Amino acid sequence: MSRRRRVLVAGASLAGVRTAETLRDRGFDGEIVLVGAEQQLPYDRPPLSKALLEGQGTADDVRLLTSDQVSALDLDLRLGRRALALDPVRRAVELDDGEALGYDQLVIATGSAPWMPRDWDLFEGIYPLRTVDDCLAIRSALQGSPRVAVVGGGPIGCEVASTARRLGCEVVQIEPLAAPMARVLGTEIALACAEIPLDAGVRLVCGTAVEGFDGGVRVERVRLRDGRMIEADVVVVGIGARPVTDWLFGSGVSVSDGVMCDDRCATSVAGVYAAGDVARWFNPLFEQTMRIEHWTNASEQGAFVARALLDGRQAGSYSPVPFVWSEQYGVKYEVAGVPHPTDRIRIVEGSVAERRFVAVYEREERLTGAFALNSTRSLLKFRRLLARDGAHAERVDVPSISS
Ligand SMILES: Cc1cc2nc3c(=O)[nH]c(=O)nc-3n(C[C@H](O)[C@H](O)[C@H](O)COP(=O)(O)OP(=O)(O)OC[C@H]3O[C@@H](n4cnc5c(N)ncnc54)[C@H](O)[C@@H]3O)c2cc1C
Repeated sequence: MSRRRRVLVAGASLAGVRTAETLRDRGFDGEIVLVGAEQQLPYDRPPLSKALLEGQGTADDVRLLTSDQVSALDLDLRLGRRALALDPVRRAVELDDGEALGYDQLVIATGSAPWMPRDWDLFEGIYPLRTVDDCLAIRSALQGSPRVAVVGGGPIGCEVASTARRLGCEVVQIEPLAAPMARVLGTEIALACAEIPLDAGVRLVCGTAVEGFDGGVRVERVRLRDGRMIEADVVVVGIGARPVTDWLFGSGVSVSDGVMCDDRCATSVAGVYAAGDVARWFNPLFEQTMRIEHWTNASEQGAFVARALLDGRQAGSYSPVPFVWSEQYGVKYEVAGVPHPTDRIRIVEGSVAERRFVAVYEREERLTGAFALNSTRSLLKFRRLLARDGAHAERVDVPSISS
C-alpha cells in the first residue's frame, strides 16, 4: 500500500488553519499535520484587543477550531510543540521534543511576534499583546481602573487605549510621530482622527518616544526621551512585530524581513510554501514584494497556499488588494491598497466633523489606496478599482472635500 501524502503546517493559527481547512474542502485526503507552539486550540487574534479584552466572553468564544472540528477535518494537531529546524534534504522538521517530522510539502505559517526592547519587561505590569494569555493577563490587570500607559500608536495600541478607556481607566497613549495611526494614515488624516481618542478622554503624548521605566518590582513610571515622566500602574506595549523566522536559519529558505516567496507563495526551497504574517511575497497586482500583518491576508493567503499545493501553477498568482480594519472608540477604520504616508491625500466623501469620510491616497497620478472612517460601503468601490488595475489604477476623478 502506498504511503499517504503528508502536508506539514508549522504554525497553528489563522493562516495555518485556513490552509488545512481549504485542503480538506478541496478533497485532499492525505495527512495534515498542524504544529503549533501554543497550548491553546487555534484562536482568532482581533478580539484580543477588543471584546475579549473588554471582558466580553471567554477564550472559548474566539476559537478558530473546536476539538470536534479538528476530528472532522482529520487533522493531526500537535499543540505546545515548536518547530526548531528545517532539513530540506531529508524533508523533515525537527520539533522541540526531538521528533523529526517528515513531510511531502511544508507550509510555514509561524506568524509574527511582538517586538519589545530587551529589559522592558523587567518590571511587573508591562505587557505585550499577541496571545490569548497576554490578553487575559491585561484584562485582569485593567480591573479596578488603574492608570494605563499604552506605548505605540498603531492599530493594536489604539484599540487597547480605547478598550481601557471604556473600562474607566485613566489612559495615556505615547506615540513618537505626530498622532496615533500616522504611520498608516499619514500625518494630516491621523491628526484629524486624533480628535476621537481626545474626545473619549485619552491623553495623547506624541512626538516623543519611551526611554525606559522606573519602579520597584512593579512599574510605576514611564520615562520619556524628552525628560517627562508618566505615572502608570499598567503599561501595554504595541510597537510592532517581527516575523518568526529564527527556526529557519541555515535551512536554505531565503529570509529577509519575512520568508521570501514568489507570486505563488513558494519559497526558495522545493516543496516549501509560506502564508500569513511571516510571508513576504511578490504581489503582481502591485508589482512589489510585500509582507502584511493583517487578518484578511492571513486567511486568504492560507487558503491560496492550499490551492497552490494541490493545483501547482494552475492556482495562478496570489495577487490580493491588501485590506485591514480596526475598531476604536466605536468607530470603524478601514484601509485598502498600499497607501503611503507621503502620498497625496484627499477627502472625497463625507467629512472629519461627521466622523464619516473616505480619503484617497495618490502618487504620480495613480491611486495607491483608500481609507474609510465609518464608511465601509464607500470603500468597496475603491477596493474594486484597485483589484482591477492594481499598481496602474487611475487617479480618482472626484473633487476633494475640505474637512
Ligand atoms: C491583538 C491583535 C489584534 C488584531 N486585530 C486585527 C484587526 O482588527 N484587523 C486585522 O486585519 N488584523 C488584526 N490583527 C492581525 C491578525 O490577527 C494577524 O494578521 C493574524 O493573526 C496572522 O495570522 P498568522 O496565522 O499568519 O500568524 P499568527 O497569528 O502570528 O500565528 C502564528 C502561530 O505560529 C506559532 N508559532 C510560532 N513559531 C512557531 C514554531 N517555531 N513552531 C510552531 N508554531 C510556531 C505561534 O505560536 C502562533 O500561534 C490583530 C493581531 C493582534 C495580535
